[in-house]
Amino acid sequence: MEIEDVIIIGAGPGGMAAALQLKRYGIDPLVIEHNQIGGLLHNANLVENYPGFPGGIPGPKLVHLFEEQIQDYSIRITADSVGQIDHQDNYFIVSSQDQVYRSRFLVIASGTKPRQFSDINIPMDLQDRVFYEVYPLLDHKDQLIAVVGAGDAAFDYALNLGTENDVLVLNRSDQISCLPLLWERVIRVQRIKYLQNTKIKEISRSLAGKVELHCSTPNGSTSYEIDYLIGAIGRDPQLDFISGQFAKKAIQLESLGELYYVGDVVNGLYRQTAIAVGNGILTAMKIYERLQEKV
Ligand SMILES: Cc1cc2nc3c(=O)[nH]c(=O)nc-3n(C[C@H](O)[C@H](O)[C@H](O)COP(=O)(O)OP(=O)(O)OC[C@H]3O[C@@H](n4cnc5c(N)ncnc54)[C@H](O)[C@@H]3O)c2cc1C
Repeated sequence: MEIEDVIIIGAGPGGMAAALQLKRYGIDPLVIEHNQIGGLLHNANLVENYPGFPGGIPGPKLVHLFEEQIQDYSIRITADSVGQIDHQDNYFIVSSQDQVYRSRFLVIASGTKPRQFSDINIPMDLQDRVFYEVYPLLDHKDQLIAVVGAGDAAFDYALNLGTENDVLVLNRSDQISCLPLLWERVIRVQRIKYLQNTKIKEISRSLAGKVELHCSTPNGSTSYEIDYLIGAIGRDPQLDFISGQFAKKAIQLESLGELYYVGDVVNGLYRQTAIAVGNGILTAMKIYERLQEKV
C-alpha cells in the first residue's frame, strides 16, 4: 500500500503553486486533476492583475507558462476524478471510480463549479449547445452566441468571443456587477449587444436546428435564434466529494494542520489567480513545517 506524503486535488493555479513550492522542499506531491491543467484560468480573456505581465496576459497563455514550470519540476499529475475522501488510521483515503490513493496530508484545490440554469428546461437535443465556460467555444467564428449574466465572467466571456462572433449579453435586471473597465470595453465592441431586463422564459429547437430563446422584456415577448448559449450566473465551491461524515472529521484535521483548502474553493468572492497562488505557496510552507515537526 503506497502512501503519498501529500495529495493535491486540482491542478488549477492554487494546486499548481502548492505543488511547485512542495517540490522546492524536496517533497514530491501527487496532483489529481480530472480536466485540464490550469483550471478556470482557461476562460480568462486577459489577466491584468497577475504581477509580472505588463499589459496583461491571456489566461490560456498563463496556463501554458504554468505547464512549462510544472514540467521543469517533474511534478506528478494524474488524470483522475476524485469522487470521495475519507480519513482513517492517520491517512487520507482519496477515491476515484477505479483507484484509491492514500496520503498523510491533503490539499483541496478543487475550485468552483458553475451554477446551472435551474428554472428553464433545456431540451435534450440542445444540451450540446449550452455551456457554462467559454473555452470550448474559443475557436468558433461568426456564430451568434448568447451569454447570460451580468458579472465579471459574463462580460469577460463576451469580450473573449466578440472579436470573431456576434454576442448577446442577456441580463434579467438592469443592474450590472462587473469591473467598470470590462463594461467600458464591452460597449466599444460592435459585435456585442447588451440587453437588460431580458429574461429567458423558454428554450426550444428552431426549424434550422438552432437554439431559440423565448424571452420576456418590459416591452413584451421576443425571441432570438442563436447558435450557442453560455450561462455565467455564478459559481459555488466544488466540494461534491465531501460527505457529511467527512465534513465532521475535516474541522479537526484542519486544526491539526493535515487538511488544507486552497484557492477559489474557499475564497468566496475573492476568487483571483494571485490569491489562489499565494494560498498554495502558504499551504506548502505550512505542510513543510508540519513534516519537520513530525521527523
Ligand atoms: C472569465 C474569467 C476571467 C477571469 N479573469 C481573471 C483575472 O483577470 N485575474 C485573476 O486573477 N483571476 C481571474 N479569474 C479567476 C481565476 O481563473 C481563478 O481565481 C483561478 O483559476 C482559481 O484557481 P484555483 O486553483 O483555486 O481553482 P481552479 O482554477 O478552478 O482549479 C481547480 C481545479 O480542480 C479540478 N478539480 C475539481 N474537482 C476535481 C475532482 N473531483 N477531481 C479532480 N480534479 C478536480 C478542476 O478541474 C480544476 O482544474 C477569471 C476567471 C474567469 C472564469
